[in-house]
Amino acid sequence: MNVLVIGAGGREHALAWKIKQSPKCNDLYVAPGNAGTAAVAQNLTIGVNDFEALGQAVLDKDIDLVIVGPEEPLVKGIRNYFAAKDELKNILMVGPDQVGAQLEGSKDFSKEFMVRNQIPTAGSLTVTAENLSEGLDFLKKVEAPYVLKADGLAAGKGVIITSDIKEAEASLKEMLDGQFGAASQKVLIEEYLHGIELSVFVLTDGKSYMTLPEAKDYKRIGEGDTGPNTGGMGAVSPVSFADDAFMKKVEDQVIKPTVDGLNKDGIDFIGFLFIGLMNIKGEPFVIEYNVRMGDPETEVVMPRIQSDMLSHLAAAAKGELDKEQLEIKPETATTVVAVAEGYPGSYEKGRVMKGLDHDFKGIVFHAGTAVSDGQILTNGGRVLASTGLGSDIQSALGQSYENLQSIQWEGMNFRKDIGQDLLAL
Ligand code: ATP
Repeated sequence: MNVLVIGAGGREHALAWKIKQSPKCNDLYVAPGNAGTAAVAQNLTIGVNDFEALGQAVLDKDIDLVIVGPEEPLVKGIRNYFAAKDELKNILMVGPDQVGAQLEGSKDFSKEFMVRNQIPTAGSLTVTAENLSEGLDFLKKVEAPYVLKADGLAAGKGVIITSDIKEAEASLKEMLDGQFGAASQKVLIEEYLHGIELSVFVLTDGKSYMTLPEAKDYKRIGEGDTGPNTGGMGAVSPVSFADDAFMKKVEDQVIKPTVDGLNKDGIDFIGFLFIGLMNIKGEPFVIEYNVRMGDPETEVVMPRIQSDMLSHLAAAAKGELDKEQLEIKPETATTVVAVAEGYPGSYEKGRVMKGLDHDFKGIVFHAGTAVSDGQILTNGGRVLASTGLGSDIQSALGQSYENLQSIQWEGMNFRKDIGQDLLAL
């Protein structure tokens, strides 16, 4: 089977790395990819939103299966684009259509979906310029901290959490005034959920589903979860507090009603569902859905899968996921993301990287890297994700950190405390 993975991050390197191990994999392509994907696949210099060029590459390279990594092409309708073209409509694809992608692309859509399907989530009110006064009244009624969310995609920056009511009122007005462009024409005010966060991943063909290993990620730049939010600074799988009793509740109260709800709404959802959850005293509440795998969570989830992921992905795309059996390794996986100096603020690209030819334990996945004149250069804010495997968190972290000691570039930065909160539980 010839496969195309769309995307350029650590998530896509981890997907390509796992797919390449399948005996069913013939030619593997990543568009546009990075220096790491170039080592396991052939990179195609095509942007993730250039549907025409991606479609042409699929025909030219005789690709059978397309895996869409990031959310943007899904929200922009890559599945619909393929479905509308006679020569592309039979190509297998993992990734929902534009309506399904609204579960991530519109927080108002996903909140209504959860409420309609009795899926536990924070109470909320959706505010537009028309009902601003209702929104300001709602802020007075709910307890601090106040959670404000831009409805649309805002590159992970569209959520404001503050304990200051004046700041919350001002932020609400600013957002509705266009702080995040069209993405904040609608704003959700949500009740604050007090608990511990984790992410659950599901692969579904719309009827059957398989629950992949869960993970916990570390969003903030600073140790002790301080400072600004990032795309993710590390991840751990499994998560100790996601025990069998909790995961059974997640399945019964969240996963099954979500898949049933998609069916009831006539949404033909083929793809990954990433469910951001809050564990509140052992009860799951949904914070958000994403319609793709997480990054850096994929870098701990894929190494824990024993069975043939390409077989599962192809079966999902064909609507035959019920024939597949997922096998998970008992090991713990940790990943530590190394970032460029200045990230998540402004940072420079093009720094020369050294030590990548080292014989690593675990796997060093590339995120923002590129090859130029035989050298590997930094090419993004999040540069690498060093994944370690072990019998427990400590031994996995040992590998993650040991690998990073062999790698250098000017301004390299990473958190030293990934997983420490789980060790302290
Ligand atoms: P992401 O980058 O994770 O996709 P997003 O912009 O889609 O983020 P959310 O995931 O909805 O936004 O929220 C971002 C983060 O804010 C959550 O991971 C969580 O830590 C926090 N958060 C969101 N909603 C709540 C809530 N109701 N109560 C407490 N914390 C919340």
